[in-house]
Amino acid sequence: MNYNKIFSKINRALNKTEDLGKVATYISELGNVDPSKFGVHLTTINHQHYQFGDAEEKFSIQSIAKVLSLVLAYKLEGEKLWERVGVEPSGTSFNSLFQLEFNLGIPRNPLINSGALVISDILVSHLKNPKDEFIAFVRSISGNPNIDYCPRIAESEKLTGHRNAALVNLMKSFGNIKNDIDVVLDFYFNLCSIEMTCKELSGTFLFLAAYGVNPYTNERVISISKSKRVNAIMQTCGFYDEAGEFSFKVGLPGKSGVGGGIVAILPHKYSIAVWSPRLNKKGNSSKGIKFLELFTTETEISIF
Ligand code: GLU
Repeated sequence: MNYNKIFSKINRALNKTEDLGKVATYISELGNVDPSKFGVHLTTINHQHYQFGDAEEKFSIQSIAKVLSLVLAYKLEGEKLWERVGVEPSGTSFNSLFQLEFNLGIPRNPLINSGALVISDILVSHLKNPKDEFIAFVRSISGNPNIDYCPRIAESEKLTGHRNAALVNLMKSFGNIKNDIDVVLDFYFNLCSIEMTCKELSGTFLFLAAYGVNPYTNERVISISKSKRVNAIMQTCGFYDEAGEFSFKVGLPGKSGVGGGIVAILPHKYSIAVWSPRLNKKGNSSKGIKFLELFTTETEISIF
């Protein structure tokens, strides 16, 4: 299929309507991004590449990194992981506090902030040098030694991370955070600060389209069963309280971030990354979702 042609066609259609989304500013560094940026990159499991627009420009992947920390924690902790974090869609915003109180400090899933903080705590417990070992893991699955944290963004998150501090404190009070709160928060802010291009992002997630095997190296990243479960969590929880809507419109497992990125996979076929910084009211890229909706409509392939 000539995806490049489809990309141009969809872009022409989208340019006819105004994007009313707003760039995230609650992390001040994110507010400095040019809102008109737009990139797409699709990588097939047979190593073909298709791209459009600003696909080779780095951006802050934010919560998309939560899938990668989940994968590493799941590898290290196994099924015991699910004693500390659930697998249900939250139906609340990404940084919501009230549900956590109600659920006695057990986050609904690993892709909302509270869940990712518990995953961060698990990684801090398992790894000797958590930040170094985690980024080494990301580099190994992406096959790209240049992927890195952005200290500027991590610092900016720290300055305004009051809700994340509240979440981690609440969970600590319930006994669901084992390490020092500042160490867990520092790991979490760095996790969210990772930068990638659309090309790097789609390449990094390709193993989830290939049943847990990295198609570049043929190395198994996670088992088939674990890969199935991570995809299921992306499908049901990857877009906060808009996860149902994304499934309904796009029909692929995916994950968004407040930097305006979205990654989605079609098992056995491809991984696609889209970046457009203007966010809708739920904190997901508005043009990104629209683009992917038109993409699976136009190609007539989704998981459903
Ligand atoms: N670093 C962001 C936060 O903690 C991540 C949110 C997101 O991308 O959804 O608020």
